Amino acid sequence: KQTIRLEKLLAHTGHGTRSEIKRLMKTGSVSVNGRPVKDGGIQVDPEQDQIAVDGIGVRYREFIYLMLNKPQGVISATEDSRDRTVIDLLDPEYQTFDPFPVGRLDKDTEGLLLLTNDGKLAHNLLSPRKHVPKTYFAEVEGAVTEEDIDAFSAGVTLDDGYVTMPAKLNILKSGDPATDEVSKIELTIMEGKFHQVKRMFQSVGKKVVFLKRISMGPLLLDEYLEVGSYRELTAEELLELQ
Ligand code: URA
Repeated sequence: KQTIRLEKLLAHTGHGTRSEIKRLMKTGSVSVNGRPVKDGGIQVDPEQDQIAVDGIGVRYREFIYLMLNKPQGVISATEDSRDRTVIDLLDPEYQTFDPFPVGRLDKDTEGLLLLTNDGKLAHNLLSPRKHVPKTYFAEVEGAVTEEDIDAFSAGVTLDDGYVTMPAKLNILKSGDPATDEVSKIELTIMEGKFHQVKRMFQSVGKKVVFLKRISMGPLLLDEYLEVGSYRELTAEELLELQ
């Protein structure tokens, strides 16, 4: 039987900040099984107990799933001693769910990052055996060539000796070293080694200067989501991820 502190449940369900919830409790607005309760510290069972605020039943949910368009300069972690984290970008209401990022993007990488408190879903998406494809858009110094496409599809050897699985490179626009024009590419990888995209280009002597994740498995970055903003997954997106 899963219980939760009443005030935490109220925070999860959007009933305001901690002090707002305290005030709700004090004024007798909150009831459990029909009886007003003034102590937010009590444990309740969201499956069994009837919780109401001003007589309106509270619908509880355990998990949240957020799609974030990660900006550069923030860390894909729940805590960091120096830098802002992706969790710092969320409203306090969402933070009360204790979400964490599903996988990591580098500090200077933008784009699709799923945040959830659903450990099982995260585990499935991150399992190395599942080979969930991830697609990145990148800008690369100099000219990305057909040889790079072949090399990435065969697998390249990273600086630590690791040989990558076949990856699909798509050249959107080849750059020109003479004019400093960068190449624009999309790369789909089936694994997620540390700095993988940057190190794959490094293995063919090229430098990634901008990197953005645009998809992860069936999940596509919402093009209307501005950098630094986020939204909950739709029911359809969530279904596709299961
Ligand atoms: N590959 C990288 O090099 N960096 C990322 O953030 C993600 C993939």
